[in-house]
Parts: sequence; structure tokens; C-alpha cells
Amino acid sequence: MFGHNRFDTLRDLFMDELRDLYDAERQILSALPKMEERASHDELKRAFRSHLEETRGQVSRLEQVFEMCGEKPERKTCAAMKGLVAEGQEILKAKGDDDVIDAGLIAAAQRVEHYEIAGYGTLRTLARRLGFEEQARLLQQTLDQEGAADKKLTQIAESRVNVEAAVSV
Ligand code: FE
Ligand code: FE
Ligand code: FE
Ligand code: ZN
Repeated sequence: MFGHNRFDTLRDLFMDELRDLYDAERQILSALPKMEERASHDELKRAFRSHLEETRGQVSRLEQVFEMCGEKPERKTCAAMKGLVAEGQEILKAKGDDDVIDAGLIAAAQRVEHYEIAGYGTLRTLARRLGFEEQARLLQQTLDQEGAADKKLTQIAESRVNVEAAVSV
């Protein structure tokens, strides 16, 4: 975990960001099943389940990127994702109206997607700058999935969950 704190070249930064995202994705792998379990709307459950499947693929893409760079997959604790997951836990443990809880799960999940979008966008751009074209292609594939997952959550919120949730008592 230590010994990677020198940033002399963009490659150093790339590897650091890669280790961060690898840890972030692994954290998400353990969080998504709980989100799916807590969700009430079938459409939301399905969205979490299918994003869990996608996330497994994303983890293996990151492992491929490590290999292509001649490095072993290694995690560097992503403190930001820890915080986002902790905020999600608050909703998971909360009592209340199922529709409102679903809206809260979506809010937490979209923060995660936006963090990933920022991370993958940067990593893809660094890969291109470094001439890692194949790595950039893999990272772009995941970036597209994160964007689609975010849009799907917006659609579920706007078309179903927020419509059914009580606005006042
Ligand atoms: Fe992801
Ligand atoms: Fe991070
Ligand atoms: Fe995601
Ligand atoms: Zn409902």
C-alpha cells in the first residue's frame, strides 16, 4: 500500500489513480448486493443487480490494464469511496417509506457513479497521453457503462420512484 507516493511522471500518477479505482470498484462490489436487497422497486433491484454484473467485468478490465502495464493488480484505499459507501449505509439502515428509501438509494448510487465517471475519464485521458491505446479503449468501455448506469438511475427516479413517493404527510 505504501511506497507509491512519488509522482515524477504521468505514468506514476496513472498507476496511482488505477490502484485507487481498483479499490473503489472492489468496495462497490460488496455494497451493491446490499443496495439490491434494500431496494423495493423491481426496476431498481434489477438495475443494481445488472450493475453488479457489469462491475465484475469492470474489475477484470482494471486487472487487464494492470497486466498490460506490466504491473500486478494492487489496491490503494479509496477514501472517497469509503465515504460514499458510508453515506449509503445510512440509507440502508434507515426506516421509513419504501419509495423514499428507494429515492435515497438512488441518490447514494448516483454519487458513486459520478465519482467513477470522474475517475475513469481522467484515467482514460492519461492512458491516451501515455500512448496506452488498448488500456484507454478498455477504460472507455467502463466509462460508457458508468454513464449508462447513471442515466438509468435518473430514469427510474423520475419515471417511478419519485412519482410514487409521498411528497407530504
Ligand atoms: Fe464501476
Ligand atoms: Fe479515490
Ligand atoms: Fe458504477
Ligand atoms: Zn413505489
